[in-house]
This record gives sequence, structure tokens and C-alpha cells, in this order.
Amino acid sequence: MPHHDDPPTVTVLTGAGISTASGIPDFRGPQGVWTRDPAAADLLDIDAYARDARVRERGWRAWAQHAVWEARPTAAHRCLVDLERAGLLVAVLTQNFDGLHQAAGSSPDKVVELHGTLTTTSCLRCATTVPTRDVLARLPTEPDPRCQVCGGILKPDVVYFGERLPDDALERAVAATRDAHTFVAVGTTLTVHPVAGLVPLAVDAGARLVVVNAEPTAYDHLADEILRDPIDQALPDLVARLVRAREPGL
Ligand SMILES: [Zn+2]
Repeated sequence: MPHHDDPPTVTVLTGAGISTASGIPDFRGPQGVWTRDPAAADLLDIDAYARDARVRERGWRAWAQHAVWEARPTAAHRCLVDLERAGLLVAVLTQNFDGLHQAAGSSPDKVVELHGTLTTTSCLRCATTVPTRDVLARLPTEPDPRCQVCGGILKPDVVYFGERLPDDALERAVAATRDAHTFVAVGTTLTVHPVAGLVPLAVDAGARLVVVNAEPTAYDHLADEILRDPIDQALPDLVARLVRAREPGL
């Protein structure tokens, strides 16, 4: 049993690599969405999206076909639920918008979605929020679906290029990073800022840095431990070690 008086000590940052085993392609990898179709990145430009109905129609069709709707969490997502139940988890900071941490059972208030979420969609004018699935169901008759309150443009709550990160997400992430004794970066090359900047922040605050990624990352030189094995094996093994280390008498 954990010492319930002890504060949690582990913060985990996750990127696309934790969800590729769930069938969700990453953006920049060899099989990535933008590698295979550079024009796909234009669909995520907020200015083009707000200006051009054709961009919105193509964007909605792409979201409707996205692998996220069929994706299921893997052992890598589930082991972070074990970490939370052991009383060790400060927070999961994620660059993913697939909702798989919550689907695995992580508490919503422990998950900080730094790049937003595909689960919900909001009106760019009046900020009314609706489930994205409900909007997708309207596409056959409404290829550029509009807000049912004010007629404004709808956009998934994923952070597009040219948009700010969600309110308070970065603040919460910085606080969770400063509280960490162990900071684990999983499935991310740590090249996208400002999120990547959390890693040196954690190290400066005295955290032990563990990198779990098949490819080299921008901060391997700061890592105390680097795990190159497949994430679905490496992360559960790491979590089991962290939980054992917390148990009294060890
Ligand atoms: Zn509206």
C-alpha cells in the first residue's frame, strides 16, 4: 500500500508515440499524417479554417475518417491508471487529443490536454460546446456544420496552428512539472514548443528525467534513464518499478 500521507511524485508527459499502437498515426513520423500528405497540415491552420468553407469541409471529412473513433487504449495508457491508484501520479500531461488516457480510466482532473481534445467541438463565435460525434453525424446534410445557437463556425477543440493553448493548460502543466520528483517523457521527440520546454523545467526543479521513446529526442542529454523498447512494454515495466519503490520496506 502507498503511504497515503506522501504527496504524489511522478509527472508523465505523453505524445503521439503512446497512441500509435492504438492505431492512431502520428503527424511527423515516417508513416505520419503530414509526412504522407503535407497538404493535410493546412487543414489545421486556424486562419485558413476561419476564412475558407472549403478548408472546413475537407477538415470535417478528414476528422470523420480519423482513426481516433475506433481506437482503444493500450497497456501503456492503462499502466498510468495503476500509477494514479498507487498514489504516485501528479498528472498526465498529454500532447494527444484522442482522449485515450480518460478512456483507459485516468481521472479527468489528472489529465492535462495541452493540445486540446477531439472529443468536443466549440463555436468560434459564442463558445457553445457540443460533442464532436454529434457534429460529425450532421455532415451528410451539412458539410460545413454551424453552431445551432448562433450560426457561427464550429471547430473541434483541438489546438490548431496559430491558436493559443487551452486556458490554464500550460499553467497546470508547469505546476505539475515543478512538483515532480520523477518526470517521464513518453512517445514524443520533444521538439514542439512550448510543451517541450517542460523537460528542462523539470530537470532544473530537481526531477529525475526518464525518456521512453524509440527514436532519439531533443533532451536525451538531460535524461537519467532512456528506454528505447516498445512503449507498451517499457512504460508498464517502468511504472511497476516506480510502484514497487514506493512500497514500505523496500
Ligand atoms: Zn455559436
